[in-house]
Amino acid sequence: MALEDIRTRIAAAETRAGRDAGSVELIAISKVQPLERVEAVLGQGHRVFGENRVQEAAGKWPAFQERFDDISLHLVGPLQSNKARQAMGLFDVIHSLDRPKLATALARLADELGHCPKLFIQVNTGEEPQKAGILPPDADGFIAECRGLGLPIEGLMCIPPIEEEPSLHFALLAKIAGRNGLSGLSMGMSADFESAIALGATHVRVGSAIFGARTPA
Ligand SMILES: *Cc1c(COP(=O)(O)O)cnc(C)c1O
Repeated sequence: MALEDIRTRIAAAETRAGRDAGSVELIAISKVQPLERVEAVLGQGHRVFGENRVQEAAGKWPAFQERFDDISLHLVGPLQSNKARQAMGLFDVIHSLDRPKLATALARLADELGHCPKLFIQVNTGEEPQKAGILPPDADGFIAECRGLGLPIEGLMCIPPIEEEPSLHFALLAKIAGRNGLSGLSMGMSADFESAIALGATHVRVGSAIFGARTPA
């Protein structure tokens, strides 16, 4: 079955890269998928899931969390500041910290609530105008700014341009993380998670290869 197949391929990629077994976390991206498919993957014992919209996650996950223990929920899509409070209640990890205004909002909420999800800073490695993320030349400064705010920065995340060789982007992200002493690398999706693992991914975000093609909402 698809989940087993992806786990096997992750394990093989870890071995090829000389990395410890189990060092890569598989985030099953369940956005837009029918609930039966998500439930089937929960039934197979998987507990780490990702969504790209706060609203959609809020409508879907509380009911699953009633029925299944130890679910870990990751936000991988853009976060508006006015949804930050809701997102902090819902998600264990946020992969889309992409601008100073959001960093300030999260820091203020973390103070107020006494907790904060783990955070990945999204880097726009392809410098694409339509894509969210900190530009590579601004990354070191933004990481320092977030640390200054006391935010729990786990690592960096990227979504490479579709028409380019993803390895170049994975390598760039790993380089920025390395020089800033960050160990987390959220990179690699259905089509390219093995090359991401070869370049140091600690978190891969795999949707359609697990659940099947997404039908538009
Ligand atoms: C949808 C999505 C994924 C998963 O994409 P697949 O190609 O279906 O594996 C990964 N990361 C982000 C940010 C996404 O929005």
